[in-house]
Amino acid sequence: MYDVAVVGCGIAGVTAAYQAKLEGLSTVIIEKDDPTCNASSAAGAFLSPKFGPKSSYSSLVNRAFNYSVDFYKKNFDEFLHVCGMLRLARDKEEEAKCDSYVEDSDFWIKKDGGYWCENAATISTFETIKKMASFADNYYKSEAKDFYYQDDCWNIGDIKAKHLILASGARLLLNEPYLYVKSIFGQRLEACVEKGFDFSVHRKCSIGPFIEGKVQIGASHIPSWRYQDSETLFGEYRDRLIQEAQDILQSKIAVNAEYRGFRSSTIDFFPYCGQVINAKETLAKIPHLIYGAAADEKEFIYHKNLWLHQGHGARGFVLAPYTAMHLIRQILNKKSDENEIKLVRAFIRYARKAKSKLREFA
Ligand SMILES: Cc1cc2nc3c(=O)[nH]c(=O)nc-3n(C[C@H](O)[C@H](O)[C@H](O)COP(=O)(O)OP(=O)(O)OC[C@H]3O[C@@H](n4cnc5c(N)ncnc54)[C@H](O)[C@@H]3O)c2cc1C
Repeated sequence: MYDVAVVGCGIAGVTAAYQAKLEGLSTVIIEKDDPTCNASSAAGAFLSPKFGPKSSYSSLVNRAFNYSVDFYKKNFDEFLHVCGMLRLARDKEEEAKCDSYVEDSDFWIKKDGGYWCENAATISTFETIKKMASFADNYYKSEAKDFYYQDDCWNIGDIKAKHLILASGARLLLNEPYLYVKSIFGQRLEACVEKGFDFSVHRKCSIGPFIEGKVQIGASHIPSWRYQDSETLFGEYRDRLIQEAQDILQSKIAVNAEYRGFRSSTIDFFPYCGQVINAKETLAKIPHLIYGAAADEKEFIYHKNLWLHQGHGARGFVLAPYTAMHLIRQILNKKSDENEIKLVRAFIRYARKAKSKLREFA
């Protein structure tokens, strides 16, 4: 029996398995497809701190950025490229906003007609995931369909584990009313160019550093309601990326590869990282939660040893190493003070909405 089984071999799944391994837990990864087909392999992957007004979300991203760049440097340095990023404003109006962002930023300074972050980096996605997955004790290529808790462990087909972590990207494998993942489709292009920069540049789209005659260009954002598996739509968004990249590089580009995937995003962008609450049983036990009463999350009913690591949106490579570290700390009952990523947040929001629904019908 394994200590931890992880469903999904994207960046969320492999970072969870890897952090568990670092804590001495035995791990197995279960992945249904070739991991070159998921969102993680489609990513740029640009690692940068948040550029924008201060918020609790931007603070989370920035803490994660600091942690994750160090994490990759320490463990997967061969795939990390710390090259810096220059952000360019689109127009005067945006420039005024950007000026206010850098005023008290710990990461960005005004430089070279734009805004510069020295520590921004890129990471080779597929190579990193493959290497990270190789540390798991076992890897199964199969679809986790029916999983259930019986005899003090999770059973996923023939695989048994004390803890189960679901990291299935844009697909939720659970039916809990407070969980919702929206998928945002995106394309990243790899293009041959004559010239480029030795750092990343961002204006409307991001362009990675010029390496061996190529650059990475990312990424389009197509809401899933517009996703119709339509090559015309992909073509439209691809043309826009090409145009934007050519405007920045001031030279023609020739696309030689395109990668596609679905980002999984939560309603408020905070990823889901924690133990899964059983909403029905918790509300039956503590009905006054619906009326907005405060309650101790220790009183909630949880699905035994079932955890979620999902919904990292457009920043999976920045957030996941950090949230995975906090997830494993929660599993080991160690202190984790990142409360906003726990599922309590989404559950409470759902409970409050239930309250307003009751008012509507009163
Ligand atoms: C075009 C594009 C560009 C991006 N650029 C960046 C970037 O520059 N920087 C950044 O930080 N992030 C970027 N992102 C976002 C980042 O890629 C995502 O946040 C991240 O990849 C999500 O990882 P994940 O592991 O949650 O999902 P995925 O990578 O989709 O992995 C989920 C895996 O679960 C598997 N799975 C699902 N159901 C089952 C099942 N029942 N049984 C077994 N396996 C299952 C799937 O096959 C899949 O392999 C980008 C995304 C896209 C699409």
